[in-house]
Amino acid sequence: MQADCTFCQIVSGELPADLVDEDERTVAFMDINPATLGHVLVVPRRHVADVMSAGADDWLAVAATARRMARWVVAAFGAGGVDLVQANSDGSVGNQTVFHLHVHVLPRYHDDQLGSWWSPQTADPAEITQAARRLVDHGRRDPETTLGLASTTS
Ligand code: 5GP
Ligand code: ZN
Repeated sequence: MQADCTFCQIVSGELPADLVDEDERTVAFMDINPATLGHVLVVPRRHVADVMSAGADDWLAVAATARRMARWVVAAFGAGGVDLVQANSDGSVGNQTVFHLHVHVLPRYHDDQLGSWWSPQTADPAEITQAARRLVDHGRRDPETTLGLASTTS
């Protein structure tokens, strides 16, 4: 637990929240400023700032709870869709404002005002391929890489 973290305080019960589900590793509760009706946040009990610093076990547990919440909100609110949104930031760019890993479960409705998360841009295909190579090169140096392209040497 990190004493000054809002989501740690919710997990410990120190700060009130509308809890909707919990298990050994995760807690799901209503967002205090919902983007749409039924906006849920899913967090790991353990304090980790973002997805990069989460252990695989915590991340998989958060993903499983987010999947369950997606099914619940669609059924409970008759949502036409559900977006799972997860923001990470170094504090200077991006959309993360609370630095305890969380997944937003956002029910989508025909009349909601959320729109699309990004507008597609055209890019030079060579630039895309170059970006892929850069990633695979990086992946070769990642000790977590076990299978796939980045595990082969060339
Ligand atoms: P982020 O911007 O980091 O992706 O999302 C943080 C979310 O946490 C926001 O949607 C915000 O409304 C929500 N939030 C911030 N403080 C509290 C709080 O004290 N209680 C609850 N339930 N939600 C909070
Ligand atoms: Zn925390």
